[in-house]
Amino acid sequence: MRRSKGRRSNAAPAVFARRSKERVLEALNPVMAPVMLRLAVGVMGARKYEWLRFAPKLPRQLGGWARHRPWDDEPEPVAVPPALRSYAGTLRDAEAERQAFDEEPLHDFTKVHLPSFMWALRRSWPFLLPTFPRRISGARECHEVRDRAVAPRPREIPPAELSRMIREEARRLGISRVGFAKADVKYTYAEFPDPGDANIIVCVMEQDWRATQKAPSAKAERAAFRGYGEVLPKAARLVAFLQDLGYAARPNDGTTLEAMAIHYGVEAGLGQLGLNGQLLTPEAGSRARLALITTDAPMELGTPVDFGIPRICDECQLCVRRCPPGAIPLRRREKRGVTKAAIKPERCFPVMAATHGCAVCMKVCPIQRYGLPRVLEHHAATGTILGKGTDELEGYVWPHDGRYYGPGEKPRMTRELLNPEGFGFDKTRTVPPPGV
Ligand code: SF4
Ligand code: SF4
Repeated sequence: MRRSKGRRSNAAPAVFARRSKERVLEALNPVMAPVMLRLAVGVMGARKYEWLRFAPKLPRQLGGWARHRPWDDEPEPVAVPPALRSYAGTLRDAEAERQAFDEEPLHDFTKVHLPSFMWALRRSWPFLLPTFPRRISGARECHEVRDRAVAPRPREIPPAELSRMIREEARRLGISRVGFAKADVKYTYAEFPDPGDANIIVCVMEQDWRATQKAPSAKAERAAFRGYGEVLPKAARLVAFLQDLGYAARPNDGTTLEAMAIHYGVEAGLGQLGLNGQLLTPEAGSRARLALITTDAPMELGTPVDFGIPRICDECQLCVRRCPPGAIPLRRREKRGVTKAAIKPERCFPVMAATHGCAVCMKVCPIQRYGLPRVLEHHAATGTILGKGTDELEGYVWPHDGRYYGPGEKPRMTRELLNPEGFGFDKTRTVPPPGV
């Protein structure tokens, strides 16, 4: 692979053009930010979500944003070379998990840091507004099926058959893949009901590849939110399918997740946790937008898998080295009983808000760009990480200055970027402020 592949120009006209585009967005911010805030407050602040019934329901044929076909139902097992094997799923300590939960249950990050979150929303309109209609239409479908009656159950369906039926229906609906896991109250946000003995269906929707490679940019972030806009209505229709079979089922409320989706993705065997803190699926890395369904349907549950990702991450470390503010630690440590690289939100969050979602850590991930099988094959043949050291994988244009940064180069972090006025992020806070 040539080192120069993918290099962008840093000639003055190119930088000027990129910078001008950002300046136009900045100039529009005073007008657009209040609109964004008003809409967001309507969505997140509405306790009963009653207003969603007035949201326009978009015709299904307008939902054709997904450019990817569903993934194979029965994927070939990933052949992980012995040198890259380590552990299945994530390293978990059951006692530490329980103790952490007893001391303080998990809370929804957006509620814990609501003031900073609202601050970030003011900068998010370039990617949130264009995707809002589809997102809200999907949320409406989710709310509608939550109140839908469950049909009488004509017969008990054995778990293996029911799992197959759900997979088939998900595929028909266009969901990239579904996985099944046991509900766990320790991974449910305290703001939502205890799922008890339920099962969880994890719905994965692949995010557009081409747009993702443009991160950090509004275009790439729009692709992420389109993924959510795609998966929400499809999850709602999968819920209706289960209800018609006589099983209680509900999607997450459509405006936020009720539980830590990445945990369920790992437990269902859909992928492993990357150093970048994201669920890395073998097919698309972290280009996987997730929705959860809680149900009493008995299914054949998945199990965590060793895809070789922890060892690949140890050798790769690209997200750690390329993250502009250095928000990703190199070493994993135990947090609430799970061993992982805990992203520093106080460094990531303001930069993310100021750069259209940033997502450099997603863009530079070889598993995201090439897929795990190619990364493993390349490693087996060369002992190196596919794309590491190339402009194609590591390079990105930084929205703030319009300049291109290739391997070994990073944009300068200013105090205004890392600690913007009004951001007020409190990294010691673990519970929502009073009244939230
Ligand atoms: S989103 Fe950007 S700032 Fe945040 S961890 Fe990823 S690369 Fe770093
Ligand atoms: S960029 Fe590299 S280290 Fe980071 S998550 Fe992807 S494979 Fe792992």
